[in-house]
Amino acid sequence: MEEKRQFKKLRISLTDTCNLACTYCVEDEKGHQMPPENGAKPLTLNEFVATIETLHTALQLESVRLTGGEPLLYRNIVPLVAAIKAMGISNIGLTTNAYYLKSLAAKLKRAGVSSINVSLDALDAAVFKTMTRKPLLEKTLEGIHTANRLGIPMKINAVILKGMNDNQVLPLLNFGRETGIPVRFLELMRMGYLHHKYAQYFYPEKEMLQLIERTFTIHPEARVASSTANYWKLEGTHYRFGIIANESTPFCADCNRLRLDSYGNIYGCISSANGVSLKNATLGNKQQVQESLVKAMQQKQNVKFVGSELSMQYLGG
Ligand code: SAM
Repeated sequence: MEEKRQFKKLRISLTDTCNLACTYCVEDEKGHQMPPENGAKPLTLNEFVATIETLHTALQLESVRLTGGEPLLYRNIVPLVAAIKAMGISNIGLTTNAYYLKSLAAKLKRAGVSSINVSLDALDAAVFKTMTRKPLLEKTLEGIHTANRLGIPMKINAVILKGMNDNQVLPLLNFGRETGIPVRFLELMRMGYLHHKYAQYFYPEKEMLQLIERTFTIHPEARVASSTANYWKLEGTHYRFGIIANESTPFCADCNRLRLDSYGNIYGCISSANGVSLKNATLGNKQQVQESLVKAMQQKQNVKFVGSELSMQYLGG
């Protein structure tokens, strides 16, 4: 009998604001602000803790990832990490642009952050600025080096856009080899303002591999269940890189992620723009929580990634 699908990984958008304005995420430098429905207010620290605790009790979560918007802009991030650890969840990941990482990395590690993914789309300062609309490459690199020196397991995520930063694939791979940090290249996902015009910038997995194979001999590794990335090893080294290819190699079928936005809505799928409010369901009412989780599970896709007009800024990338 097929095992019943269950949520096991929780991704939380701690805030929908960000200090960068990446071209694949928002339309202009101001960043797109979506007015919260019904004047909803962002969750307080206590509300975040209560919501995560309720979800953990219901689902026995394996891991929590803190993202956004930019999660390091959420001022209670350190106590929140400590509270999640105290719930017995030891796999606590963070996805960040690293701008504030230099000053926060040690505190986050002490509080319980177990791994960090940094978004770095270019090593060339001009390309970095085109991608993020901010001239902040140096701060990002400082953040990466600080966390790496502290021994926090890390990955680098780079969204590759045709004609914009495809010339950064090899420099990023070499940076990964030098620092020992696995780089994962992402295909553009049809999200947010690019939902209907993503083809203009789409750079497929196949071309990424062809580009890398001009310089390196590579060997594919077996995919780990529910993983977003496929990995390859560079011949003659221990270094592995990944590709997250929602479009070319969708991984919807065994996705076990649940998302929580900063207003208390849960989403069973990144392609759903309709959150299920957990604020209305009384957190203490087990049946209401279960009903909300069933609604979220119904949003899951099985085969193909569809995307939505909602930017990942709200859902947590
Ligand atoms: N601010 C943090 C950061 O930069 O890592 C966390 C949030 S950001 C939305 C997380 C990541 O989501 C981005 O760096 C990128 O890897 C991914 N992302 C956002 N929009 C995307 C899109 N349309 N296609 C592919 N990846 C996207």
